[in-house]
Amino acid sequence: MLKLDDHPSGRHFLQIPGPTNVPDRVLRALDHPTIDHRGPEFARLTLEILDGLKHVFQTSSPIVIYAASGTGAWEAALVNTLSPGDRVLMFETGHFATLWRKMADRLGLSVDFVPGDWRSGVDAAIVESKLAADKAHAIKAVLVVHNETSTGVSSDIAGIRQAIDRAGHPALLMVDTISSLGSIDYRHADWGVDVSVAGSQKGLMLPPGLSFNAVSDKALVASKQARLPRAYWAWDDIIAMNRQGYFPYTPATNLLYGLHEAIDMLLAEGLPNVFARHDRHAEATRRAVRGWGLEIVCRNPAEYSSALTAIMLPEGHDADAFRRETLARYDLSLGTGLGRLAGRVFRIGHLGFLNDLTLCGTLCGVEMGLSACAIPHRDGGVRDALEFLREPVGASEKQRGAAVRRVASITT
Ligand code: PLP
Repeated sequence: MLKLDDHPSGRHFLQIPGPTNVPDRVLRALDHPTIDHRGPEFARLTLEILDGLKHVFQTSSPIVIYAASGTGAWEAALVNTLSPGDRVLMFETGHFATLWRKMADRLGLSVDFVPGDWRSGVDAAIVESKLAADKAHAIKAVLVVHNETSTGVSSDIAGIRQAIDRAGHPALLMVDTISSLGSIDYRHADWGVDVSVAGSQKGLMLPPGLSFNAVSDKALVASKQARLPRAYWAWDDIIAMNRQGYFPYTPATNLLYGLHEAIDMLLAEGLPNVFARHDRHAEATRRAVRGWGLEIVCRNPAEYSSALTAIMLPEGHDADAFRRETLARYDLSLGTGLGRLAGRVFRIGHLGFLNDLTLCGTLCGVEMGLSACAIPHRDGGVRDALEFLREPVGASEKQRGAAVRRVASITT
């Protein structure tokens, strides 16, 4: 029989960029007896979750929950809003943008895929020029991955919204927030996003298995005209039954218990604090990487991801061999390089349920692993991270500026 707890002793360090560590509180919530999903207690649970999710997505629009991985919610976003042959604008920011594009191709959409170097985010100027040139408004949607989990690069969604508005173009804006929601500031309403796509297993601190669409009024209108076939993913039946707290199918009851608990945790900490915590751990990680003399995949500091850091190994060193070693020696799981970055890159996930010491342990494991694998690096990355973490919380300029901006905009 497969043994899932075959680790020497102490806790496994799951520092991949999702699925993330599930807090004990959430694990205990999952462990409750399953109840009747057509009974009154379940309806109360659903209604509280749908209300809580609105805070997390920063919107008052409907949110649809699927018993599916994030890929299901990608498909739901497309099939609910678009018709066969519709043109959509997408950007090659990395592995996940490429997979979403492949799905759009398979569904019979006509994709204008702007090439990218897998080290940069979406260029809002290109969004603007493509849309301005599309006088006939043939482009029906702009699809963007907010936080590219394969590269650790975030795109500026507010800037993309402004670019669409400057072009005066009616295209829908759909955003994959699978590895940003609950970790990096994300505002469905303020940023005029029409469909936000999210998953349970990253910033929401749940196991995999749930995914989400937050849906604007404009997207709901588009869904009335859209002709791509849809059945399980159709928003209308789900939104209608959700009003009473029910689903048109058997929902993932126990995952919903966990979701209720996770939302409670995020809102009790306060979203601005959650985001500031992620910013701080990301900055500490980058200090460690620079201390080691290694290269961060993300080229532009303004696009650094606060959820994960992807790191290049020097030429001739295999990132997967390095990951195998950190797992075998220290029981530390690091993220693999995906797609064209396979073997060259490893990723440190610093999102979700994490504190300073979890991060320190992770960085120690990486530093020891670099030595164990004789990968050329400087000592002192961990020391640099510790020096940063020792500073009073909120002391770094970036952190202070970002936190103040967020609080101001949430309270105004
Ligand atoms: N989009 C992003 C940004 C992701 O990180 C992932 C998974 O890691 C996906 C989409 C696909 O989600 P899933 O694997 O849950 O289907």
